[in-house]
Amino acid sequence: MGATIIDGKAFAGKVREKVAGHVSRLKEEHGITPGLAVVLVGEDPASQVYVRSKGKMTVEVGMTSIEHKLDVDTAEADLLALIDQLNKDPEIHGILVQLPLPKHLNEDLVINAIDPAKDVDGFHISNVGLLGTGQKSMVPCTPLGCLMMLRDHHGSLSGMDAVVIGRSNIVGKPMAQLLLGDSCTVTIAHSRTKDLADVVRRADIVVAAVGRPEMVPGDWIKEGATVIDVGINRIERDGKTKLVGDVAFESCAARAGAITPVPGGVGPMTIACLLANTVTACCRANGLAEPEGLTA
Ligand code: NAD
Repeated sequence: MGATIIDGKAFAGKVREKVAGHVSRLKEEHGITPGLAVVLVGEDPASQVYVRSKGKMTVEVGMTSIEHKLDVDTAEADLLALIDQLNKDPEIHGILVQLPLPKHLNEDLVINAIDPAKDVDGFHISNVGLLGTGQKSMVPCTPLGCLMMLRDHHGSLSGMDAVVIGRSNIVGKPMAQLLLGDSCTVTIAHSRTKDLADVVRRADIVVAAVGRPEMVPGDWIKEGATVIDVGINRIERDGKTKLVGDVAFESCAARAGAITPVPGGVGPMTIACLLANTVTACCRANGLAEPEGLTA
């Protein structure tokens, strides 16, 4: 195995340290404490775990964490009223509505009710448009984390061939926009792509965001390519539950120049980028210079 393992866990620790430094400066020099509000509707166990760890890390970097836990049968009007209240609250700089929402709630409507300046998930249609037109926006956390690791590893990404597998609104599409913004030649592959293996073999950078355990085998990877594995899949192997990504780690690592592991790659960077987005939103809201290196 020749590939450099990109240690997302360690990198995320550095991002959180940087965020914590900015938070303490905001407090000391301006008397401002960045605040993040997380809204959870219902009791989905995975969402509860995410919300708990987001809250814990928010507090660890010195920010205020507010959690709103609503009943699974909360009416849309009540959720919208809460978002309106958070939009108007000067102590809250970031608002995150944990997805997925229960079926009776219209996700698009809810997300687009968040003030775009406080939309730390970067899912509001205004932020999607700003990112697509190369303007300053709130950038979705998972692709932002991937971009930070790629920039850290390569320096410039200019002119590289990048293939993003997956076209979701939360990972694939914004990832492609970010790579385009860094002057990569970008291909978005998806479930209807013909000859996926051939498409992936052309890539200097492969970002896999599919949700299918180990679907990318090593022989699809160009020698020396960088592989970013976004997938988180829980599988049973040898009688044990195991987390694996969307790429077959061992065989891909044998050909890649660098690769992110699962767990310990993209996952930890996602929460670190949520904290980064919150401090960025807080600086923008207060007309202060935003921290360098924490956004696209
Ligand atoms: P999604 O289901 O919304 O999108 C999956 C995409 O994969 C679709 O665009 C689809 O066209 C494509 N696809 C499906 N089958 C394919 C195939 N056979 N060949 C090529 N493309 C195919 O998923 P998502 O929300 O984008 O998440 C993708 C994966 O990333 C999941 O495993 C998810 O758990 C993980 N994820 C991880 C993080 C993190 O923090 N690490 C964050 C978000 C998502």
